[in-house]
Amino acid sequence: MSVEVLNRIGGVPTKSSSPVFERRNPARWSEVVSTAPESSVDDVRAAVDAAADALAKWRATTPTQRADILTKASRILAARAEETAAEMVREEGKPFADALNEASRTPKNLELYAGEAYRLTGATFPSDDTPLVYSVLDPVGVVAVITPWNFPLNMASRKIGPALAAGNTVVFKPSPMTPLMGERLASAFVEAGVPDGVISVVHGFAAGAHLVADDRVAAVTFTGSTATGRKIHSAVGLGRRVQLELGGKNPVVVLADADLDAAAQVVARSSFSLTGQACTGAGRILVDASIHDELLARVVKLAENYVLGPGDAAGVTMGPLVDDNALAAMDAAVSMAVGAGAKVACGGSRRSEGALADGWFFPPTVLTDVVPGSALSCNEVFGPVVGFERVNGIDEAIASANNVEFGLSAAVCTRNLAAAQRCAAEIQAGMVRINRPTVGAAFNAPFGGIKQSGTATHKEQLGPTVMDFYTVMRTVWLGN
Ligand code: NAD
Repeated sequence: MSVEVLNRIGGVPTKSSSPVFERRNPARWSEVVSTAPESSVDDVRAAVDAAADALAKWRATTPTQRADILTKASRILAARAEETAAEMVREEGKPFADALNEASRTPKNLELYAGEAYRLTGATFPSDDTPLVYSVLDPVGVVAVITPWNFPLNMASRKIGPALAAGNTVVFKPSPMTPLMGERLASAFVEAGVPDGVISVVHGFAAGAHLVADDRVAAVTFTGSTATGRKIHSAVGLGRRVQLELGGKNPVVVLADADLDAAAQVVARSSFSLTGQACTGAGRILVDASIHDELLARVVKLAENYVLGPGDAAGVTMGPLVDDNALAAMDAAVSMAVGAGAKVACGGSRRSEGALADGWFFPPTVLTDVVPGSALSCNEVFGPVVGFERVNGIDEAIASANNVEFGLSAAVCTRNLAAAQRCAAEIQAGMVRINRPTVGAAFNAPFGGIKQSGTATHKEQLGPTVMDFYTVMRTVWLGN
């Protein structure tokens, strides 16, 4: 059954005169899961009007009032985790266990950010000329939250939570691939008692650009591709702030002394979790030439063990790609790499037999002899296609890891502590994991990339700087 998703202007479900678009189940393309409006400039303007009007009252609420609403929203989402996860499987495609993991973790994010409402602390400064100098943290204003489809609840909760905790109002633009998940998240805030106007939702393919273009939006927090991030960055001028969490081409470095069974697990989980559709997923395996073939054999075995199918079918460990464009991108990535000299060790083309016929299924794919500097070595693929490159020793491994424009996540497999520490220090990535997969996030640790993987000026998740993006620090000189 398809769900009709509406915009929420000022929190209230609102019909739009704009045309609607359909989101289909990527595992069963004939099934329409949701429809949502392709919001116009006027729709988006109405959402920003509501957010701007609601700002003065919301920023004047007490920390307890804001924390209570976030806590209540967290409980509502937790109580519905199973139901929401089942919908996520149909709309986004990931296997049920992964969807449930996300639906269960999202409420925990909100609990965490509820506490931040109480921790908006300033500082006092010794002064020569006045009895007291102190700083205060104010909300920024109207915050635009623009998110991708691969973690449709989690990503958005990591932005809406801290924005509201700090007293900002929000206009949320979910991915057009997952409008229903956007609605499920937003409705929990409304049910929890967030006042009218404090959160609005606009859907569509062009709504993000309309939102960014509205000068009343004081801050844009965005997660998505580097290409879109670049557009947003250039559209947001002086006086408005922007936080970008973007794409990656994340390496797994496997040094000669690594435990090969463990390293193979790290490579497989990094490369194939969530059908390779994680921003932190690995695209490059930089493996010491002396152990290349032994590692490859192990990784291919693990790759061939994945069970492809609809995420709600028993035993499935890999769901579909998000849509037919993603499928075409996988085909193109493989054929370009092969054209440049790479060889296919496993996978390599669409699977469409039996239960896979109506969906966008692509198997775990390992390519070897990938040419350094080639498209597969440098560009994000965002699917289960990974390339092996031979390196000789740690110096070459680090140089190769750094030889891309991205810097999101990296993994290093070694038993040598000094080598691990050197890689952690010298690999240019916002997150480096030793003997751990490139994927995954600790919900209470800073998360984000460097180089072309993000603005790096503010980190998502928790950490000492989490509220910086959502607050303005001002300083007061208090005389007698
Ligand atoms: P995308 O850039 O195509 O879209 C992201 C969002 O931006 C969507 O809501 C989209 O509608 C909106 N958008 C599109 N054009 C816009 C514009 N001109 N102005 C404003 N908004 C616009 O990305 P996607 O396909 O949804 O997600 C996949 C990408 O996201 C991958 O590159 C992946 O690496 C990245 N990602 C990064 C992280 C991270 O934390 N670094 C996490 C998840 C995904």
